[in-house]
Amino acid sequence: MAKAARVSAPDHGVPLLDINRQLAPLLEEIEAAVARVFRNGSFVLGPDVEQLETSMASYCGTRHAIGCASGSDALLLALMAAGIEPGDEVILPSYTFFATASAVARLGARIVFADIDPATFNVDPEDVERRITAATKAIIPVHLYGQCAEMEPLRQMANQHGLWLVEDAAQAIGAEYREQPAGSLGDVGCFSFYPTKNLGGAGDGGMLTTNDDQLADRLRLLRVHGMRPRYYHPAIGINSRLDSLQAAVLNVKFPHLEHWTDLRQQNAARYVTLFTAAGLDRHLVLPTTQPAHRHVWNQFVVRVPAAERDALRRYLASWKIGTEIYYPVPLHLQECYRHLDIPVGSLPHTEKAATESLALPIFPELRADEQQWVVDRVAEFRQSTGCKQVA
Ligand SMILES: *Cc1c(COP(=O)(O)O)cnc(C)c1O
Repeated sequence: MAKAARVSAPDHGVPLLDINRQLAPLLEEIEAAVARVFRNGSFVLGPDVEQLETSMASYCGTRHAIGCASGSDALLLALMAAGIEPGDEVILPSYTFFATASAVARLGARIVFADIDPATFNVDPEDVERRITAATKAIIPVHLYGQCAEMEPLRQMANQHGLWLVEDAAQAIGAEYREQPAGSLGDVGCFSFYPTKNLGGAGDGGMLTTNDDQLADRLRLLRVHGMRPRYYHPAIGINSRLDSLQAAVLNVKFPHLEHWTDLRQQNAARYVTLFTAAGLDRHLVLPTTQPAHRHVWNQFVVRVPAAERDALRRYLASWKIGTEIYYPVPLHLQECYRHLDIPVGSLPHTEKAATESLALPIFPELRADEQQWVVDRVAEFRQSTGCKQVA
């Protein structure tokens, strides 16, 4: 281990995400932007939100972008605008963040979970197709970890059966599928500016993208209580506006997004090089990428044999290396969905991924020596468990 010895321990371990490294060089600019909002006194929607909407529409290549209060609300608003109601069925992966499914449940519609492709963790189009019935109204593919779902077959199914295609792009701002940006691949795209996303605000925020003029108009109506004009309500909407303060912060960060994405991609490539050089690619399954698409690496998730995953996580934690499990309990096995009566074993690829996945630090400002440190600690863990097996 002569090579490892030359790398000294990063002082405070390696965090899963260090937001301050990104914010520090922008702090003055952010403070000035926030001060401007206070001076002009427009706190809800307003010019900062319009600027961000214009930037997002152009970045995603869509005619419209509509700010809202969170990624969760973006999903809810998209389904409301699509007219999803009790009795309708919506197909989505179980292997995703909770909000993808709760939006469906809130509208009284039926959640239909589909399994994933074990190579990409994204929803398996063939399994989606098997679950389409006469009651199906929408499909919500999730671009998990920053890589687009397999959209082409989903688009065909949606066209053939007259279904809404709602992209959960919360983890995939800037990702592309066959050179087309996330958010422009379905009927409507849903984004989140939660601080851990690739473009994170100073709190909650969300955005919807669409090329459909009518849908855009409906979304703008629904995010302000269905009110138009003031105190007249042609529809029952919700209160889901994007704060000017969030938009002001995001407008400062937006021009840096492409550079941050490049850095995430470099970090991902470096992990692959380092893990392979250490011979660890035989013990861990490294994330698969499809060269035809653009992965933006919101997360770098490896698979570790289920029997070792939690022990590796504890070992890395003992060296103050931050990791996370996305997601430990698939949605179909959550207590709140017990009434759906989906037994264990129903979605085998999803359930297996939940026992094997481990996210490693991948944020843009992560340093090469920190990555080397992470890989060396994983190698050490492998050696120690190997010895135990022999003994
Ligand atoms: C973060 C996230 C959401 C929800 O976004 P919020 O802004 O936190 O409400 C939805 N879906 C996925 C896949 C996410 O990662």
